[in-house]
Amino acid sequence: MPGVKSSFMKSLFNGSFNESQLHNYPFFDTPGESDFRLMHRSIEDWIKENCDAMKFDDDKKLPPEVVQGCREMGLFGLIIPEAYGGSEFSQTFYTRTLEMMNHYDASLCITVGAHQSIGLKGLYLFGTDEQKKMYMPRLATGELIAAFALTEPGAGSDAAGLKARLVRDGDSYVLNGSKLWITNGGMADFFTVFAKEEIDGEDKITAIMVTRDMGGVSHGPEEQKLGIRASSTVEVYFKDVRVPAANVLSKPGDGFKVAMGILNQGRLGLAGGALGAIKSVLNQSIGYAKNRKAFGHSISDFGLIQDMITEMTCHAYAVESMTYLTTSFVDAGDMDYSLEAAICKVYGTEAAWRVLNLGMQIHGGNGYMKDYGLERKLRDGRIGIIFEGTNEILRLFIALTGLKEPASEYKRIGRELQSLQNVRNLDSLNDAISRFGVISEFAFNQVKQNVVAEKVEGFNEVLSKEAERLSTAVKALSNTTAKLIRQYGQKLVDEQMQLARLADIAIDTFMIAAVLSRANSVIERFGGPEKNAQELALAQLIVRNAKARINQNVYNIKANKDEDVRAVAKYVTEFERYPFQLADRT
Ligand SMILES: Cc1cc2nc3c(=O)[nH]c(=O)nc-3n(C[C@H](O)[C@H](O)[C@H](O)COP(=O)(O)OP(=O)(O)OC[C@H]3O[C@@H](n4cnc5c(N)ncnc54)[C@H](O)[C@@H]3O)c2cc1C
Repeated sequence: MPGVKSSFMKSLFNGSFNESQLHNYPFFDTPGESDFRLMHRSIEDWIKENCDAMKFDDDKKLPPEVVQGCREMGLFGLIIPEAYGGSEFSQTFYTRTLEMMNHYDASLCITVGAHQSIGLKGLYLFGTDEQKKMYMPRLATGELIAAFALTEPGAGSDAAGLKARLVRDGDSYVLNGSKLWITNGGMADFFTVFAKEEIDGEDKITAIMVTRDMGGVSHGPEEQKLGIRASSTVEVYFKDVRVPAANVLSKPGDGFKVAMGILNQGRLGLAGGALGAIKSVLNQSIGYAKNRKAFGHSISDFGLIQDMITEMTCHAYAVESMTYLTTSFVDAGDMDYSLEAAICKVYGTEAAWRVLNLGMQIHGGNGYMKDYGLERKLRDGRIGIIFEGTNEILRLFIALTGLKEPASEYKRIGRELQSLQNVRNLDSLNDAISRFGVISEFAFNQVKQNVVAEKVEGFNEVLSKEAERLSTAVKALSNTTAKLIRQYGQKLVDEQMQLARLADIAIDTFMIAAVLSRANSVIERFGGPEKNAQELALAQLIVRNAKARINQNVYNIKANKDEDVRAVAKYVTEFERYPFQLADRT
């Protein structure tokens, strides 16, 4: 992207590190904060008064008056520029709003979030002024509710396999096809649709804005879902829909780029939502653990309950630190944040799932009962790991995106090495050997240029061990990257288990960076280490645990049983059921 600074994380894969980006953690003190807080509070008060998540879940829908209330509260226009009637929230304000909404009701959060994070985001990011003038004002008021229509029955993770078709006819297109599991699809009037069209004899994906009043748009019944039951999820059908060619986003054939651009940012909304769920379950579990008595004690006195509460608190702090560091990158406006956003989505949604599970355990049998609301939150929380890119696909995305730059550097070096293979006599062989030495060293230095120092500088002395851990984490990430490229070359794309380990090293490295940055800034700005002893201890615990996971992953990259894992899966899959029935041995 021209004019866009390389991302913080992409540089780390290369071992180069701009620690100045960590020296001022972005606390919530940007211009507009006090106005934002007023609006935040009024939205929260309105939700508390009007939203009964348990009833909405039972009824499997949001009441029309609640959707209308969202319109009146301006919830459909949070990110839309003021010029078009919206509140023009920054990514940070928007993510904080979704966090708060998900604290109360995931279905409500998803409805508002899908409208803005993905439904209208294509128009927001890629729309022309004309297109924005045409649709933004009605999207801001919620007169038009937006949906994002990419998935099809035969195309989920593999979005390139989609079959919906656009055929150009004069100044318009004719759209045919169907889209599966479209959030807001039952009430949306505005769809960002991805379909294939033939361009220069080749099928390419085009993104186009479709409205229901164009005719030929219909939808199936609401899906019966595990969670987020009050949100709308339907199949949407497009039958001979005539769409003006002026509604294409970016340009014909750019659909994949548009979809990825939308999802890169949309994922931060999911991380914010995950954080809301984590805090809500943590708060509820703390209250329960203090009040619940067993063996003459509050269960919060027991070590194993304390272990769970601390783990939940670590997740809350880590997800919060990573998410709002990343939203500040987005708000800076000139940084590539795609890797960080994917990291926040993967870690945030999995942390939420873990916290929901721990919260249920702390509640014992009561957690399993409907009245406590935890079973609903658990059901609601599961979807985060699946949609807007499954976490498997996103781990591959994180690893392969991070590998791209170092791998192309290796390829260049590889070409030079190739030229040395054509040696014909002893002299040139000797020459080759010496040049090989030079080139290997060159390769080593290239890949490790700007490698982080033993201990990254500029952090308070009390965090020196953590600064050292950040340094070794960055080294582990860049060394592992180089090692995997050398070991597997182009075949690395097929080594998914290794790639997932690399992605997990990247996730934990970003966590250490974000947590260290925040803890250091807290100490520097809010009264020193003693005054912040508890927060410091928590940050140190998170960093220590993240570094231990990195060490384990580095070890597993060297010594693993991936071949055996693949062999078992292959055998069992071919057998088509569990092959080792004890009963079959009689
Ligand atoms: C409630 C809900 C709401 C949704 N809302 C929307 C929406 O608004 N708009 C929209 O367009 N879509 C929406 N979706 C679709 C969602 O984004 C997809 O379900 C998701 O992308 C996964 O696709 P899939 O279900 O086809 O799974 P598949 O792609 O079939 O994947 C199945 C499993 O295989 C794994 N897998 C697939 N490919 C690979 C690979 N190459 N390597 C390793 N593992 C792989 C996946 O990670 C997963 O574990 C929604 C889905 C749900 C359930």
